[in-house]
Amino acid sequence: MSDRVLRGSRLGSVSYESDRHTEFAPRSLTFYDCPHGHDTSVPFAAEADIPFTWECKVCGATALRRDAEQPEAKASKPVRTHWDMLLERRSIAELEEVLAERLAVLHQHQGAVKAQLKADAAKNRKKSA
Ligand SMILES: [Zn+2]
Repeated sequence: MSDRVLRGSRLGSVSYESDRHTEFAPRSLTFYDCPHGHDTSVPFAAEADIPFTWECKVCGATALRRDAEQPEAKASKPVRTHWDMLLERRSIAELEEVLAERLAVLHQHQGAVKAQLKADAAKNRKKSA
């Protein structure tokens, strides 16, 4: 009932003009999915170029347009990884050789560390004895 009470208002402060007969420009609601599970919807004019991504209204992350293909799909060039670049410079046989060399160095170092630890332990035993 209370919402039917007509309250007074200052002249000119409120427009009683109805927008019932106003025609809005055609627009479409576009939905964006945030990686954190939030939904963001943005009304765009029908003729607007609708962006693929939009800032999430909840957390600010980059949300992807729901009805569009992923923007990454547009990139036809495959991503070149460090491994790809390495394979361009060396064959697998060469890489195995390098790996064996590095492992030998590591094992040598490990052996040296173990020997040093053993020597230190012997020294400490002598000290405490
Ligand atoms: Zn979000």
